[in-house]
Amino acid sequence: MPAAWIALGSNLGEPAVQLRAAVNAIGLLAQTRVTARSGVFASSAVGPGQQPNYLNAVICVATELGPLDLLDALQAIEQAQGRERSVRWGPRTLDLDILLYGEQQIRSTRLQVPHPAMAQRHFVLYPLADIYPGDQPLPGLGSLANLLAQCPAVGLTRSTVTLDYDLPHPREPLT
Ligand code: ATP
Ligand code: CA
Ligand code: CA
Repeated sequence: MPAAWIALGSNLGEPAVQLRAAVNAIGLLAQTRVTARSGVFASSAVGPGQQPNYLNAVICVATELGPLDLLDALQAIEQAQGRERSVRWGPRTLDLDILLYGEQQIRSTRLQVPHPAMAQRHFVLYPLADIYPGDQPLPGLGSLANLLAQCPAVGLTRSTVTLDYDLPHPREPLT
């Protein structure tokens, strides 16, 4: 199955809850399995006006959905989690971007892969480095180590939050 890497970001509502709910929803998509989750990183918002800080993470999925079907599914999850598309780069409850889809390089109006801004974004590259195979170049972008070296992690911190679920019920005491 092709592997796709997806960036998650949120700076409204409860960002950690939004990110976890998104991972859960992605895991429930047809023909799709979440195979890796990065740590969660915090950074200050880039964009218009004063905005709350972001939480960002990256996951890897194995999926039989084609790139555009995957984009449709991710946008439906954004909508379901209350995203309103108003201001470009404005605050949002959830942003899901396809960073990479296998070895494909896609340049259509609706979908550009690898994501055109990923090489300049510390909040994408550092989480990706948690889960991306070190010896595998990024299609058209070269090695991740090289991209990281050119993108200092200024203002980016690793959060204590994780994408793992809290256990739904307290564990039964062992007897
Ligand atoms: P940026 O793309 O700079 O991170 P953004 O995430 O805020 O900005 P959105 O408003 O979420 O931008 O999306 C605008 C459009 O970008 C989407 O409707 C989608 O068609 C298009 N798009 C192009 N390439 C991608 C991609 N790789 N992943 C997700 N959306 C993409
Ligand atoms: Ca984005
Ligand atoms: Ca987006």
